[in-house]
Amino acid sequence: MPTKLRAVGSQEQELRALLNEVPDAQVVCRTRHDWPFDKARPGRVLPRGISARPQADGTALIVETCGRCGTERRYLTGAGGRLDEISTARYHHPADWVKIPREFRAGPRVFRREQFRRLEEQLSVLVARAVAQAQAEKVPVVCQGPPPVPAVKFQGGIA
Ligand SMILES: [Zn+2]
Repeated sequence: MPTKLRAVGSQEQELRALLNEVPDAQVVCRTRHDWPFDKARPGRVLPRGISARPQADGTALIVETCGRCGTERRYLTGAGGRLDEISTARYHHPADWVKIPREFRAGPRVFRREQFRRLEEQLSVLVARAVAQAQAEKVPVVCQGPPPVPAVKFQGGIA
């Protein structure tokens, strides 16, 4: 048992050390990239950051680049540029991208927490100001958490 606890603790320390190496843009992008396709609308000019590169075999590579971290998302069309045969996406990260091994299971929640940790100073000031203002105005601070579950009375009888 103590061995397992030690292993978990050391894994957390390893993850912490890796997270410390992650650039700010990557922390945000691990929860959501800034893809140009997300801003594209039918009938309008495509946003910057989307390009097509013809390939020797007659297909084309459609590339979009994240506006925040520089990761590229690439799709390959079918022959002659057929979009109805588009491949699944492949990702190419920038050189400073910190790889975190799968064993750490560092998903979006881990990076959202890391984002909050890095913004702790600014967020603390924001929260303190809001609380102070509410107290000065004597506005009751309302809990925005989930509503309490109402008690259910048993109304059925035994058939
Ligand atoms: Zn990104």
